Amino acid sequence: MKKDVTLTVKSKFVNKYKSGYPLISKEAIINWNEVTEEGTIIQLVDEKNKFIAKGYFGKQNKGYGWVLSRNENEQIDQRFFVNKLRDAINYREPFFNSPDTNAFRIVNGEGDGLGGLTIEYFDGYYLINWYSKGVYRFREYIINALKELVEYKAIYQKKRFDVSGKYIEEDDFVAGERGTFPIIVKENGVNFAIYLNEGAMVGVFLDQRDVRKRIRDAYAEGKNVLNTFSYTGAFSVFAAAGGAVKTTSVDLANRSLNKTLEQFSLNGIDADAQDIIVEDVFKYFKYAVKRQLTFDMVILDPPSFARSKKMVFSAEKDYKNLLKEAISITEDDGIIVASTNSSSFNMNKFKSFIDQAFRETGRKYQLVEEFPLPKDFKTIKEFPEGSYLKVVFIKRLP
Ligand code: SAH
Repeated sequence: MKKDVTLTVKSKFVNKYKSGYPLISKEAIINWNEVTEEGTIIQLVDEKNKFIAKGYFGKQNKGYGWVLSRNENEQIDQRFFVNKLRDAINYREPFFNSPDTNAFRIVNGEGDGLGGLTIEYFDGYYLINWYSKGVYRFREYIINALKELVEYKAIYQKKRFDVSGKYIEEDDFVAGERGTFPIIVKENGVNFAIYLNEGAMVGVFLDQRDVRKRIRDAYAEGKNVLNTFSYTGAFSVFAAAGGAVKTTSVDLANRSLNKTLEQFSLNGIDADAQDIIVEDVFKYFKYAVKRQLTFDMVILDPPSFARSKKMVFSAEKDYKNLLKEAISITEDDGIIVASTNSSSFNMNKFKSFIDQAFRETGRKYQLVEEFPLPKDFKTIKEFPEGSYLKVVFIKRLP
């Protein structure tokens, strides 16, 4: 390994790092020019050269690196990663012991002291996501640590740092015995088809687990449900499993049709009784208004950013309008599930979008309940941006 590089933290950022902030940002450091190679261990010091923390250099959209330790004498070596992974795995013990769920996250980046890295578990298969070239330089340590600590059918990986933020298809297999995909995993008794060999999106977003369960157990019965930005239809499957009279899934991507059919059939749900529509959500809203279609429940789970042929969607700019469209086709006393994974605004701001949308449509509403990230997506209070998921159940009042 190369020699550590010492980086000086600007005085106005010193307290932030002393009190545990884990993300090393571009603007916090005076002498970034001293480090060139991603994966280099960096020592953060104050302007009097006093040690604050150590971490690594790795460029992500979020920043330039992550703190790994506040102990000057700690070596970032094989043992360091074994200890981190062991703690992370122990923390998920209830998940490993769950009889009806076998898909969950075992390492959640900085929440587990390992910024830039996530590891997910899918019924004996492990999926590592590397978010920078820098963290990928530690791959041997991390893969060895995982091999030492768990029994696995196979380990797969995604390099999420490839040029232009786009994931490039390649062989993602790391170790064990190659899987035959899809593998079928279980979440609260519901089946999901998972493909670890088809790019970055493997079939389900695990962070919505608690929301899906709540929709099935407390809301879906007898309801006509619209699921927008539906991807593989995970919310629709849970709604149907909970007794929804009908679900309508809308997603722009062609793949969503077959993927959603597959999820329904895996769960013994009659897909013919459901609608699956490949279309731009905003176009669908216009169509629904024209045809006077209304719903008892509308689920909104857009990406933070999306570019389609005609428009760019940004949650921060456009969520309010998305809500206004949803309000116009939701029944009295119907529920809107508004979700966002954007880390560029917090819950208060999100609620202000909700309030504005209802004001501007002249409708009344009631906030019914909220969901943050589930337990396996461990977060730390020193990094509130890490608690990116915000889900609000809103009742549209008559
Ligand atoms: N709600 C999903 C995850 C959404 S991922 C789930 O619970 O699993 C985001 C999805 O939005 C992608 O499948 C993408 O194809 C879709 N998408 C992006 N822009 C869209 C648009 N304008 N209209 C419809 N779907 C869109």
